[in-house]
Amino acid sequence: MKKSIVLLVLFLIFVLIFGLILINKPSIKLTIDNKEINDDITISYDESFVYPEVSSKIFNKDISKKIKLDGKVDDKKVGTYKLTYKLKYLIYNIKKTINVNIVDLKKPEITLVGSNPGNSCSVQTYVEEGYTAIDEYDGDITDKVTIRKENDTIYYEVLDSSNNKNTIERKINISDTESPNIVLKGNQIVYLKINDEYKEEGYTITDNCDSEITDIQIDNKIDNTKVGSYEINYIVKDSSGNEKSIKRFVYVYDPEVTKNIEGVGTIYLTFDDGPSTYTSKILDILKQYNIKATFFVTKNGKDELIKREYDEGHTVALHTYTHDYKKVYSSVENYFKDLDLVSSRVSKIINEKAMIIRFPGGSSNTVSKNYSKGIMTTLTQEVTNRGYHYFDWTCSVEDAGSCAKKKNDNEKEGCIYNYFTKCLSKNKMNVVLMHDIKYYTANKLEDMIKYAIEQGYTFEKITMLTPSYHHKVNN
Ligand code: ZN
Repeated sequence: MKKSIVLLVLFLIFVLIFGLILINKPSIKLTIDNKEINDDITISYDESFVYPEVSSKIFNKDISKKIKLDGKVDDKKVGTYKLTYKLKYLIYNIKKTINVNIVDLKKPEITLVGSNPGNSCSVQTYVEEGYTAIDEYDGDITDKVTIRKENDTIYYEVLDSSNNKNTIERKINISDTESPNIVLKGNQIVYLKINDEYKEEGYTITDNCDSEITDIQIDNKIDNTKVGSYEINYIVKDSSGNEKSIKRFVYVYDPEVTKNIEGVGTIYLTFDDGPSTYTSKILDILKQYNIKATFFVTKNGKDELIKREYDEGHTVALHTYTHDYKKVYSSVENYFKDLDLVSSRVSKIINEKAMIIRFPGGSSNTVSKNYSKGIMTTLTQEVTNRGYHYFDWTCSVEDAGSCAKKKNDNEKEGCIYNYFTKCLSKNKMNVVLMHDIKYYTANKLEDMIKYAIEQGYTFEKITMLTPSYHHKVNN
């Protein structure tokens, strides 16, 4: 009996202890800001992750220090991180696991470059003006953008690495506002011997929208039986009515006639080395007497003066850009480089290509020998091959020569006036060399003109049809 009581008591003690152990099993408590955490935690990569506080108690005894953490969170990197909290105490072996999800929920931004709405003859032919796609987490993801075209809209779509999607649109106004382009085959300036047949060399037309353009109008009023300067006007129109035109210049010449007759008894006033501050005065005088002259320009002076020369009906011709003998006569290549510079200056101002030229020092100059032997022989041929007409002079007023050395203005003016009146002839053409960079030339010009008019001379400007007057080449 006693034995069984003892056993029973032992059993009850055992049950009691076991019960106490079961009832008092400690747990791991996780809290953030006093809130208990039992589920997964999800936060954005741009927030900071704070590890939960841990606590555990048994019989009111704090055993938090016994808890060990397995796992680590990189809160700047999108992903799922497992945190395992372990507690080993007495007979207890407890684990608690939570997942921390670091996520990117922000849409990438797409930015369009260029106009929106854009303009094109069709959505399909729209020339993409550009776009960029930036994601805060991934950075530049422009190369991930996909483009879809539907009706009159272009859709730009991009997904970031977390599958956040953004789509933006560019509307396209269906319209063709661009003119077709026409380029002439062959030379833009054509020299046609009288009675020769003009042969059209054709053209090439391109357009942004139309694959073929059939609306071409060519105005050609060339009379090849008559010496003169003619224009051929080519006008092309695309299907939306945008127009473009280009001109070809044709000079019909008679080699016999131009050699002997034209220009005889005529004065061609030519002004070199300008423009300069004296050019306006010269232009005023020429205007007053309704005389057209020829200006061989350089890099000097204001563009407006060249424009005025042209607008008032004078011939704008080319001298060289730098007028630097050492430079322009150092090689054929350097000569043309320099000539191209002044040529493009003039083209920009008058919208026409000047084809009349004068060599610094004339084609007869010997100073070029110092820089390149035989260069004038080559240049005089080469400029002609390239379609230029070069002009020397029959008469120099010596305003940059001997007259420039005279003591005072009176003597300078008297000197050039003398040269002028002495050199004129009714039996030949008179190409008069002057310089619009000399104030005494501007001052004396009116007197010289009055004299020539009294003597019955007429004035002309040099054109592509004026027979060339060349010096003998000396180098
Ligand atoms: Zn000169």
